Amino acid sequence: MDDVLLRTPSFKAEDAREVAHRVFGVDGEVSCLPSERDQNFLLQTNGGDRFVLKIANASDGRALLDAQNEALAHIARRSSLCPRVIPALDGKTISEVVSDGNVRHFVRLFTWLSGEPLATVPQTAELLVDLGRSVAELDGTLEGFDHPAIHRDFYWDLAQGITLVRGSASLVTDEGMRALVTRLVDQIEARDAARFARLRRAAVHNDPNDYNVLVSGKVTGILDFGDIVYSYAIADLAIAIAYVVLDKSDPLSAAVSVVRGYQEVRPLADDEIASLFGLVLLRLCTSVCVAARQQRQRPDDEYLSVSQGPIAATLPALAAIDFDVAEAAFRNARGKTPEETLAARRRVIGPNLSISYRRPVKIVRGWMQYLYDQAGRQYLDGYNNVPHVGHSHPRVVQAAAEQMLVLNTNTRYLHDRLALFAERLIATLPDPLRVCYFVNSGSEANELALRLARAHTRRRDVVVLDAAYHGNTTTLVDISPYKFNGPGGEGAQPWVHVLPLPDTYRGKFRRDDPRAGEKYAEFARHVRNPGAFIAESAPSVGGQIILPDRYLASVYAIVRAAGGVCIADEVQTAYGRMGTDFYAFEAQRVVPDVVVLGKPIGNGYPLGAVITTREIAASFDNGMEFFSTFGGSTVACAVGLAVLDVVEEERLQSHAREVGDHLLAGLGALPDRHPLVGDVRGSGLFIGVELVRNRETLEPATTEAADIVNALRDRGILIGTDGPFENVLKIRPPMPFTREDADLLVRTLDDVLSSLR
Ligand code: PMP
Repeated sequence: MDDVLLRTPSFKAEDAREVAHRVFGVDGEVSCLPSERDQNFLLQTNGGDRFVLKIANASDGRALLDAQNEALAHIARRSSLCPRVIPALDGKTISEVVSDGNVRHFVRLFTWLSGEPLATVPQTAELLVDLGRSVAELDGTLEGFDHPAIHRDFYWDLAQGITLVRGSASLVTDEGMRALVTRLVDQIEARDAARFARLRRAAVHNDPNDYNVLVSGKVTGILDFGDIVYSYAIADLAIAIAYVVLDKSDPLSAAVSVVRGYQEVRPLADDEIASLFGLVLLRLCTSVCVAARQQRQRPDDEYLSVSQGPIAATLPALAAIDFDVAEAAFRNARGKTPEETLAARRRVIGPNLSISYRRPVKIVRGWMQYLYDQAGRQYLDGYNNVPHVGHSHPRVVQAAAEQMLVLNTNTRYLHDRLALFAERLIATLPDPLRVCYFVNSGSEANELALRLARAHTRRRDVVVLDAAYHGNTTTLVDISPYKFNGPGGEGAQPWVHVLPLPDTYRGKFRRDDPRAGEKYAEFARHVRNPGAFIAESAPSVGGQIILPDRYLASVYAIVRAAGGVCIADEVQTAYGRMGTDFYAFEAQRVVPDVVVLGKPIGNGYPLGAVITTREIAASFDNGMEFFSTFGGSTVACAVGLAVLDVVEEERLQSHAREVGDHLLAGLGALPDRHPLVGDVRGSGLFIGVELVRNRETLEPATTEAADIVNALRDRGILIGTDGPFENVLKIRPPMPFTREDADLLVRTLDDVLSSLR
């Protein structure tokens, strides 16, 4: 710590102006900005552009500056909250200058962020909530960032705070303050040291104090990455709080506002909430001790003691707050409890919408194959197929955000990504599927598929599989036996023909029959004048069914011979989920006339697509225009392309095959140990485990299935049930699901099954 101040650069404004011109090719007015350890200059060009020229402390190594630059580049890809680095004329992001005293300093140029320092504006509760959100956003953007240079021994690192305060408290000249700091560090150590050691670590900014946070109505920027370090993941939150509580009449409520905003964006783990108040105090104690040391070196530097007056005024008030009271206040700062959220929803949302699990989960964040509830608890997501490439996959988020910032409009204007996305989609499909339509959901896509079929065949009748679900519109409910034969349903319309589900575990023809596929297909012969046959290429709602060999080929042949069109509903099964193929129909060795896509293709952004043949598209082009306001929008195409990129680049199909095989092998051992497990089936990351009370009668174990799913939920694993009897455990995770996740799922399920007996 001690030589840092002696190595602070001391360039004059004229020197800075000359450096900006020579190194960066930027000319303008120069003025000085404050800094503890570096020298910062504001550079204002004639054109009105503003930059910050930063000449680094001579004790800063290149590696650390490199880490800062990389962190800023990492953040710039996800957020506009922080400055960007401007390369020098020679393209370098770190240049060198030599001072009068012949000392080398590294120099960098940054974009200027507008706004007033938070320290200089009225800090309303709303602004403090926004500070919390912004710090959380910063931490979120730093997630996944690392660099060797930030794993450093640094006196501002809160993880060294207790040691630092113990070593320097004796230098604090004011006797009262010295005693207070010593008492606090004793308290913090006794109450929290063990907990601190367990805290999650991450790259953190490490100094979001109220001069480094810029505000213009709301928080607009966070500056100065000079203190970046690998430390407690909640260090930024603790430090932001440490500065905004100063000089407040009610410091705890100011802190609670920041915590509330933070938790809206990033939930805190239990230990983090419990540690927070101690870390806030530890930061202030550190500040007192660092200032005491530095003041001995530069007694005249006012900047060094800028915080000391307010700390002296506020620390005694903070010290009077019981740690447990502060912890409870931070816990309550969190949003509504699940019960409150549920009650609020019941008041205003249509009641016929079920909620998963007996104890509903309130999820506040997702990351790849994991979900987090508001207490910060992690759940392994074994169920959601919509976030196909992973919850909040940064590539997809970035594509959406960047396009949204520029333009989002409809397909009546030209934009290149529309055809590009269609071309990329078509390239995944066999001939003659060559014409695309874009809509906003699986339902809309199935609706359109039916219209295409009807326009082409001029027939209304539709052939469907039993237990199928194809969507929520009037017509789709009419062709979904799962709905029209279920509660509230009105039975089949005369134009709807239901074929038995080709379920070789429970149905009429079983796995021991090599011609089961053809035999199930024969039922299609009874339908006269079919307009369309529609089926999931692997029935999911029907209970995670893998169709017997030659089933679709046989049905398609029968339906086509009778003049009908064959529609493959690939809403659940597309994009490599099955492992063996990109689409489930491929394993059945057929080519549909219409393919319907939904859920995974937008990774959560509402996106549906229909791909058909030129002939069918020509029949549909009968004079009536087809237009979807949002379908194929600029953002939809950007998202769709990003998802395809990730699926391909991350080789998710082969990953699904490998992990799926491993998972199926693990699950395959369960029937030997647990009589309840009647069947394990699937392909890739599309898996069903059918539970029965009796392996002869196949009596469905429906309540047991529900018990198991809820027990898994309590143990942090989310799956669901499906099938006509809701007795099939449905495993259909986001594709990044790993072998380790699979092992955990098998182990936990094994355990839950044992405890059930
Ligand atoms: N088809 C299938 C096979 C589905 O599973 C679903 C949704 N569960 C749909 C269509 C309807 O999709 P959406 O909810 O996006 O309208």
